[in-house]
This record gives sequence, C-alpha cells and structure tokens, in this order.
Amino acid sequence: MRLYTHPACLQHDTGPHHPESPARLAAVLRVLDRDHYAALDRVEAPRATRDQLLRVHDEAHVQRVLDTVPMGETQWLDDDTALSPGSAEAALRAAGAVVAAVDAVLSSGHVRRAFCAVRPPGHHATRSEAMGFCLFNNVAVGAAQAMVAHGLRRVAIADFDVHHGNGTQDIFWHEPRVLFASSHEMPLYPGSGNPDERGAGNILNRPMSAGDGSYLFRELWEGDLLPRIRAFRPQLVLVSAGFDAHQNDPLANLCLGSEDYAWITAKLVELANHHAEGRLVSTLEGGYDVAALASSAAAHVEALME
Ligand SMILES: [Zn+2]
Repeated sequence: MRLYTHPACLQHDTGPHHPESPARLAAVLRVLDRDHYAALDRVEAPRATRDQLLRVHDEAHVQRVLDTVPMGETQWLDDDTALSPGSAEAALRAAGAVVAAVDAVLSSGHVRRAFCAVRPPGHHATRSEAMGFCLFNNVAVGAAQAMVAHGLRRVAIADFDVHHGNGTQDIFWHEPRVLFASSHEMPLYPGSGNPDERGAGNILNRPMSAGDGSYLFRELWEGDLLPRIRAFRPQLVLVSAGFDAHQNDPLANLCLGSEDYAWITAKLVELANHHAEGRLVSTLEGGYDVAALASSAAAHVEALME
C-alpha cells in the first residue's frame, strides 16, 4: 500500500482564514506518521506533465494556473479559489501523485492500492475552470492516465465527498469508459448533482439531505451505487475521498463518523479485489474540521492497508 505526497502541497497558501488550509494536510500526514502506519510505502509525488493535464483541461485553464505566478501575494480565481506563489507546484504535485499512483497499480505486480495525501483538492475543477478550492481535477487526470497510457476501457470513480464532484462530472459527461458515482448533500455547493444528471448513462448522482447520516449513506452505497459499479466491471477503482460529510465538518450538514469512512473503504476494496485485480487509487478531496479530517483519513488509510 503506497502513500503519495509532497511537501510542496503544503505551500499552496490560501490566506489566514480559509477552510482549505495547509493545516489540513499537515494533520493527515501527522496521524499517518504514527507507528501504526509504518508499513506504508511512502513515495514522493512527481509533477504531472502539461500533456497529462491537457487530457482533461483546456489549454487556457492549464496556462492560467501554471503561468499566473502572483508575486508574493494571493490572487483569487473565484470567490474561494486562491492562487499563491506556491500553488502551481502544489497543483502539479497533487495531480502528479494520482498519475504516479495509477501507473504503480497498473504496471507493478506488487502495488495494488495507493492513497494520495495531497492538496489542493480537485473534484470541482472543470475542463475550463478552477473553482471550489480546486485547481486541477486530480482524480480526472488519473482516470485519463489509466485510459490513455494503459488502455483501460472501464474506470470507476467513487466520490463520497459531501459536495458534488461537478468538475469530474463535467469532464467525463460524454465518456462511457468512466463511471462516476457520487453521494453528496443537496442543496449545497456547487448546486449540481441531481439524479437526472446522467451524462451518457455513466453518471450516478445520489443526493442526501441535511441531517442525514450513517444509515442512509450505507443504504445508498450498499443498495444502489456499489451494485451499479460492480455491474460496470471496472478495471480500476478511483476514489475521490473527501471527509466533509463528517458530523463535525463546518461546511456541510451530514452526520457521518470516521467508522463510516472505514466501512465505505472496506466495501470499495472488496469491490476492487473482485473486479479490478485489487487496483484502487484514492485521493484526498475535502474535509474541513482538522481533527475529524485526520481521524477519518486515518480510518480510510487503515482500511486500505488491510
Ligand atoms: Zn467537499
């Protein structure tokens, strides 16, 4: 089980009062530094290449993120998405982590699962826009790597972040080789995620309501999303692992606990073992209560290690 990260991901500076802070990733890395996780094979994330990014983003967007280097101050791409002097490097390493993890599970016999502890997160970034704290769509760049570089014909993306992964949906709207399955709170940012948003039949949106918790979450995945992913027979399972559906999260109103993240992770591992030769790559998305994020990510990684 591999852990991909890079210190540059801590240098994406969103300003003093931003929920998507370097402290989030620092807390995740601190908990994964305990003896309990000593068996993790730690690998420094490489940079994604421009060509890898251009598979899912248009040229103007890639250029805006990579070439707009603010001198000593933060620039805002939208109300909540910042670009600081360290952001381009962080974004390249975050996307590059998922590419490297996908390469590792698809080409080496001994690596089956990986977790990318990175930021900025990715699932709100569309083909042409940075938004919702996201610069490049890391999980989408990884899915494209699996299809283009490895010739995969069926890649599943499971997204349990509390916010809808509108960017991933946007990028793969016409792409039947990708199945995108998401549970999320609605109404909530970014506003999309209705069940009738189906793309080419490859988009599965399952909204939950404020106050919903463990029971409905498990019922949704167990009774509906997981069977549909199984029926798709994915060759690779990617996970947009956001932990902001936790009951303590300040940006949303669902009531999950870290044990729910252990549960969904074990289910996805089992699915990957059955259909995808065990190949599963997970990448960090949201989670804004630092303590809840650390314990939830720890539960997730622990289940990935089993
Ligand atoms: Zn989120």
